[in-house]
Amino acid sequence: MFVGSTDTKPEAATAIATIAAGVDQLSSAEFDTTDATHTASLIAGLERECRRLQAAQVELLAAVERSGVHSTDGHFSAKIMIRHHAQLSGAEAAQRQRVQRALRDLPEIAHAYRSGQIGTCQVRLISKVWSNPRVRAALPLCEQEFLFAATNLEFPDLDLFCRDWVEAVDADGAHSSAERQWRRRDIRLPQDFNGSWKLDGRLTSIDGARFNEILTSLTDAERLADIAAAQAEHGDDWRNHLARTSSQLRYDAFIKLVLSPPSGSAAAGVVTNIVIDQQSFDEQLAALCGAEPEPVIPDRIATAILSGARYCHTADGTWVNPSEVVAEALAGHVRRVVINSRGVVTDVGRRQRLFSGSPRLAAMLQSVRCYWHGCWAPASKCDIDHLVPHRDGGETTCENGKSACRFHNLLKESGYRARRRPDGTIEIIRPDGVPIPTHTSHWQQARAG
Ligand SMILES: [Zn+2]
Repeated sequence: MFVGSTDTKPEAATAIATIAAGVDQLSSAEFDTTDATHTASLIAGLERECRRLQAAQVELLAAVERSGVHSTDGHFSAKIMIRHHAQLSGAEAAQRQRVQRALRDLPEIAHAYRSGQIGTCQVRLISKVWSNPRVRAALPLCEQEFLFAATNLEFPDLDLFCRDWVEAVDADGAHSSAERQWRRRDIRLPQDFNGSWKLDGRLTSIDGARFNEILTSLTDAERLADIAAAQAEHGDDWRNHLARTSSQLRYDAFIKLVLSPPSGSAAAGVVTNIVIDQQSFDEQLAALCGAEPEPVIPDRIATAILSGARYCHTADGTWVNPSEVVAEALAGHVRRVVINSRGVVTDVGRRQRLFSGSPRLAAMLQSVRCYWHGCWAPASKCDIDHLVPHRDGGETTCENGKSACRFHNLLKESGYRARRRPDGTIEIIRPDGVPIPTHTSHWQQARAG
């Protein structure tokens, strides 16, 4: 090996030895977590190097495949050689291979992975999109948009982006998947030898979303009852005296739901709000009426989703299939909410009531979860917060309203401030005047790979 020579690349074993020395140093070092900004950069810094190492694992798989060295020892494929020597689970090896194949078609995303700008969670999700053969050819056309989404969005929002895009680009697949889900709908209740029962089944995307909301609201009612009982008996120490675990609460809520008449239960008051843009709704409606679908332009769809012009989900961000939504809205089972291109709610509901009264619902439906960086509390669990508080001249408008969970709403009372940047994103400023770092600020400063 001629490390000094400019034409010869050093062998990777040398680099691995250098990494080992660095990791040794890291294991004996101490994490200084006294300052939040410093800690955030530690988290991001370590994550970035882990991402780059995981990208290197994928490249090693590609190199084995290219060289064919796996056949020397009788391994059927590169994946199996790697699975064996790295002691991977079958699922992990398959994930790695899928990422490797997807990245062959997506050089810019591969580069961003190698430089640590996007992570393994993001790359695996994009590979899952790629593995759908009906959208694979369209994916490289939208690589820029996927790269932007993977770098800038929180993971649940990237997930929604991918589902929306696949649904739009793979209209046949989504339609037939809705049909397939409907055909395969099933609830089973096999009994075990010990006499207990196992509930098993498969719900369609929209029935599942509705069931989930009803069960969640009933579970919350059970939990509040437990909290009230514990507070009455134990005062401030109530947290250590809750009668039931979350699983038990969910079970009790479910049994109440099944055994009690629905009209008398809390479930009767639950309205599932489906947020869908006008164009998607109209397209699906036209399709139901037998109209010829418009041609699909994948990168235009990706841009529309990223700019917030195209979506279909519940108020909490659970993805639902638009063709099901239209059918259910016609049947009056869900409440449709239409949002215009500027993200303002214009129409709520199947009763054709024009939206005018409730800024709370409008602000809630504009975002699927708490606006605080890193918080995934769903919108239905949030209050509406004034970004700029009343006392500082903040108005009660949709622009100034944002969903915030109770915890983060209260934090605003202890010196934190939030403001909307010109690009529409939100900046949160600590009491000491320093903005809270976000994942976006870390990855946009990623080193060139
Ligand atoms: Zn929150």
